[in-house]
Formats: sequence, C-alpha cells, structure tokens
Amino acid sequence: LSKELESVTDLPCETLDGHRINMFVNTGLMADVNISLQRGAEGVGLYRTEIPFMVRDRFPSELEQMEIYRQQLEAFYPAPVTMRTLDIGGDKSLPYFPIQEDNPFLGWRGIRVTLDHPEIFLVQIRAMLWASESLDNLRIMLPMVSSVMEIDEAMHLIHRAYLEVLEEGAHVQMPEVGVMIEVPAAVYQIKDFVQQCDFLSVGSNDLTQYLLAVDRNNRRVASLYQAFHPSVLRALKHIIDEAKAEGTPVSICGEMAGDPRSAVLLMAMGYETLSMSATSLLRVKWVLRKISLAAAQELLEQVWKMDNAAVIKSHVDLMLDRAG
Ligand code: PEP
Ligand code: MG
Repeated sequence: LSKELESVTDLPCETLDGHRINMFVNTGLMADVNISLQRGAEGVGLYRTEIPFMVRDRFPSELEQMEIYRQQLEAFYPAPVTMRTLDIGGDKSLPYFPIQEDNPFLGWRGIRVTLDHPEIFLVQIRAMLWASESLDNLRIMLPMVSSVMEIDEAMHLIHRAYLEVLEEGAHVQMPEVGVMIEVPAAVYQIKDFVQQCDFLSVGSNDLTQYLLAVDRNNRRVASLYQAFHPSVLRALKHIIDEAKAEGTPVSICGEMAGDPRSAVLLMAMGYETLSMSATSLLRVKWVLRKISLAAAQELLEQVWKMDNAAVIKSHVDLMLDRAG
C-alpha cells in the first residue's frame, strides 16, 4: 500500500468543493472486518451472508448464525451493518443444497429461494435480530427482487420473526429493511418499491449482467460485460432520480462503486453512499478527494452524449489523469 494512499485513511471522503461521500464496505468473512476498519470504512453496505454458509457443510443453526452476525455488528458498532438475506443460486451454490438448472442466473436465486423456504428465511432473520440485541445497528437487505409481491411476502416474514423474538424477550428495535435493485424490472418500479421499504441499494454487478444479457462469469462474452455501457449508466441515473424524488436513500454496492472511474460518475449522478471491497476504499477516496463535484458533473454531461462504453471509459480516464 503506497504512503500516498495510506495518508487518506483517516480523512473524510470529501471532494475539493466540499461534497461528502459515505464510504461503506462489502464484507463476507470475519477476515474482511479488520482490514475494513483499518482502512476507515464508515459502515457495511453489503454483508454477503451466503459466504459463511458456503464455507460449511450444512446449514448453520440459528445460534451459529447469531454468533457470526453478532461479530459483524459488534465490530462496526455503532456504524450500520447491512445484512443481505441469503443470496444463493446463480453462481453461488451450497454443497449441501444443490440447485441444478439450465439457466441458473434466470432461475431459483436469492429471494426466490428463501420465499419458497420460509423456514430458512425465518431462522436467518431471527438470528440477525437476536444478534442485534442492544446494538441496533442492523439493516436487512433483500436480493434479486423483481416484484412488489416479493417485498410484501418478505416483510410479512420479517415482522413475524420480529414479533417472535420480542415475545421471547429480545430487546431489539425493528431494523430498516432495504431492497436491492439488480434486476431490470426493479429499475422501473422504484416508486412502488419505496412504498414498501426503507432504502435501496443498487447491485450493479447483476444489473449490468441482466441489462446487457451478458453472463458476468462467461469469459467468452467478458468484453461485452461493460459497466460503462450507456444503457447501464442511464439505468443508474434513472434509479437515483426516482429514489431521490421519493426521499428514499440509495446506495450502490456493486463493483462499480469500487472503481474510481465509475465512482466519479456515480457521485456526479447523485449517489452519496458507495459500498465496495475493503481493498478499493483508499484508492476511491484518494481519487474523489482530488476532484470537485462540479468537475465530475461536467464530465457526466459529456458522457451522456457518448454512445459507446470504450469511448466513455477512456474519456473518464483522461479526465482523471488530468486531475492528477
Ligand atoms: C451485485 O449484484 O452487484 C451485488 C453487489 O451482489 P453480488 O455481487 O453478491 O451478486
Ligand atoms: Mg447481485
């Protein structure tokens, strides 16, 4: 890690003209926690709960889950920790819960699995709630949502779990519940979704994959997987505009948040909370501190006139080089 990058560790992520960005981190294993804290993470925007499930040979019990979640919540307390409910299927399978499908990314994934298995979902929510006792820095987030009905069903189960733990004597507040925007259908239902939840978080990895119809893990089409594709950028702008109009907070937790070039564009669009892997935190902060919001907005205005991902990317590169 270079001295120059290290020097921004304890400084806020603030642009030259004083615009403040929240720097959140994505976590999975406990190993991510120390490095996140060392590098000045201000909270967890995405805790991938499937990761502790993947390293086991059976479903962790409610108590086991509670202990794992408690460690995350305690480590970041009082900063918020956004726990995503189990997001298996697609490319993430559990050895003890195999899913065989021809089109796994269009199949049984994320919230679809857990709504079909409410017993898995309820145990997980109960474990999160117990873990949050007397800390109350838990936020819950739902993956792969494509309709309001899924939010309704999930909220119903979350309330049920909440009432259960209260009756059993837990001292815990009802956490905020958010929805991931990572399926194109969700992009066009922001106004409906925000009626049912407290916050949104954009999963740009899946959103890019589904908007462009490009498997995010298929090498043969890797060159077509373009975060700077004009359609991806327009979708991201549409999401933030709609959510802001409704006064609902939105963050972004896909890889785009951790690439300084796309982070600049996201900030210009109006995203104020970026969640990324711990290894990207200092680099993104260093770059954002070197530029002004006004310059980023000017850059974005130019980008809207461009029709090609490669051109957009090199244009942003050029501007960042000039900024130092
Ligand atoms: C995403 O899809 O952008 C995301 C953050 O979730 P994951 O990469 O775990 O699918
Ligand atoms: Mg995703």
